[in-house]
Amino acid sequence: MNNKYEFDYLIIGSGAAGLFAASKLAAHGKVAVVNKGEFSESSTWYAQGGIAGVMDASDSIENHIADTIKAGSGLCHEDTVRNIIGRGTRIIGELISFGTAFDSDNGVLHLTHEAAHSHRRIAHAKDATGKALGEALLAPVSNNPNITAFQRHMAVDVITARHLGRYKQGADRCLGAYVLSPDGEVITIAARKRIVTGITRQDIVASVADNGVIEASSGNVVDARGPAQGLVDGVNRQLRRIRLTVCIG
Ligand SMILES: Cc1cc2nc3c(=O)[nH]c(=O)nc-3n(C[C@H](O)[C@H](O)[C@H](O)COP(=O)(O)OP(=O)(O)OC[C@H]3O[C@@H](n4cnc5c(N)ncnc54)[C@H](O)[C@@H]3O)c2cc1C
Repeated sequence: MNNKYEFDYLIIGSGAAGLFAASKLAAHGKVAVVNKGEFSESSTWYAQGGIAGVMDASDSIENHIADTIKAGSGLCHEDTVRNIIGRGTRIIGELISFGTAFDSDNGVLHLTHEAAHSHRRIAHAKDATGKALGEALLAPVSNNPNITAFQRHMAVDVITARHLGRYKQGADRCLGAYVLSPDGEVITIAARKRIVTGITRQDIVASVADNGVIEASSGNVVDARGPAQGLVDGVNRQLRRIRLTVCIG
């Protein structure tokens, strides 16, 4: 059995982040998507309420930013809030183009009003938004010849330049991952260009705080989050600290 694979991109986790990235990256090279369970097992498929964005002419990005910073009670980094919220409208548009079955009234997106939002902002698919999103994102991944799916495969460690004795100076580099197959074999998946993970809603390079501890998305179910923490705990300790970003949505 082949136990060594090489792709341009390796994506660990098949939640919304992983599937979205896979569809985009497949235009640029060969992509492997690894998930420890079935592709439909992720926090994404459990998410209910919906996705916040500025989708109404009476609303504005500045309103959304102000609401978020107020709700964040001093914990938000304004530049991060601006960065995320500034892309929200476009991303919801892209999710629609992927075929996400958001609820609408006569062709107009139905937005709900939640939490600390001053305007209606929540695009949703009844109260099973994540499932609708997962289904829409999974379809193009399943049919794309540039994407290879490794379901029921768990990434158990990352391979770094330091592991391979190729580390010289500066930042260590992540080159791939060791992955446990369903029949108990450890396979090697190398990534020529980039390794990405949706398992903490961050690229793997941006997932580890400078103390080596992942500050994972509090929205992820523990089962989805736990192994990921162990996986990246040991690498890239030099990275900038990531603070909890409070985004209402
Ligand atoms: C009940 C519930 C309701 C929610 N409601 C909302 C909501 O209304 N609005 C909102 O914005 N957010 C909501 N969230 C949060 C939202 O679901 C998550 O923030 C989002 O789905 C995270 O997406 P993701 O792709 O980063 O991670 P996930 O969807 O969790 O995907 C990560 C994947 O990585 C896999 N994985 C983990 N470790 C490994 C490993 N070592 N090897 C291989 N695979 C691995 C996991 O199995 C999982 O499939 C909710 C979450 C839950 C649980």
